[in-house]
Amino acid sequence: MLPYRSLIEAEVALGRNLTYAENLWFRYSASMPDYLLYYHNFVFLFLIFTLAPLPIAVTEIFRPSIIAPFKLQPKINLPPSSFLRCYKDVLTAFCLIVVPLQLISYPSVKLVGIRTSLPLPSAWEILAQLVVYFLVEDYGNYWIHRAMHSKWGYEKIHHVHHEFIAPIGFAAPYAHWAEVLVLGIPSFLGPALAPGHMITFWLWIALRQCEAIDTHNGYDFPFSPTKLIPFYGGAEHHDYHHYVGGLSQSNFASVFTYCDYIYGTDKGYRFQKAHLQKQLREQWAAAQQKGIETANHEAKFD
Ligand SMILES: [Zn+2]
Ligand SMILES: [Zn+2]
Repeated sequence: MLPYRSLIEAEVALGRNLTYAENLWFRYSASMPDYLLYYHNFVFLFLIFTLAPLPIAVTEIFRPSIIAPFKLQPKINLPPSSFLRCYKDVLTAFCLIVVPLQLISYPSVKLVGIRTSLPLPSAWEILAQLVVYFLVEDYGNYWIHRAMHSKWGYEKIHHVHHEFIAPIGFAAPYAHWAEVLVLGIPSFLGPALAPGHMITFWLWIALRQCEAIDTHNGYDFPFSPTKLIPFYGGAEHHDYHHYVGGLSQSNFASVFTYCDYIYGTDKGYRFQKAHLQKQLREQWAAAQQKGIETANHEAKFD
């Protein structure tokens, strides 16, 4: 709820006219309690968990040949019932864990100083804070995920997330309830260290989930705009982690690749990638050679 009764009062307090975005924010949030603004995350998360994986899931079911070359594990094709079961389980966890967690965590949002007031943050401020949140979350998530691959962590908790050897977008938040709770810590750590505006916080929650869904979608599209983000792992990086499964000691990071590089947990992945590229190069060279030989053979009979 904003501490102004009118637009004029807000403009007097700020000493300037409100921008268009601030005007909209005033009209939307002036008489809305802060906890309701925070609870908007329920709606955003529900919409993201439901809609963001849908385009690839539908494409996966109909499997048009145009996207086949980009599928990371082409031998695995899940039936629609697997998508539905995964979505149902994710929604159950959402209702039983995520919603109660959000409900009780409102005081911590107030405590760290996430604000709803005017002025709104600049685009640069939002961008800088989002970068910090992603870096902090990625680092924390790396170590938690690595610990989850201990014998105890995997057998008791993390094996649930690895049910999908070839991941799908719906499986991004598919995990044991304890994992959902623990991974909430690094997600909240960034906003706690560099608290910003509620709009930045909404964006952070939404972008992080979209990133996780992108990473689990099972396709590596060369034209994806995420290819422009430095050190971004993407679907190929995380797909390898699911492919290797419980034994995996590789590719623990959730967003970027630098933690795995620094701590040496991407060696298997890099070896496989180089090996695969060598194989592809050899296959291509052999096909080229065969093409030349066929052309020479045909030329003799012309
Ligand atoms: Zn794992
Ligand atoms: Zn995963």
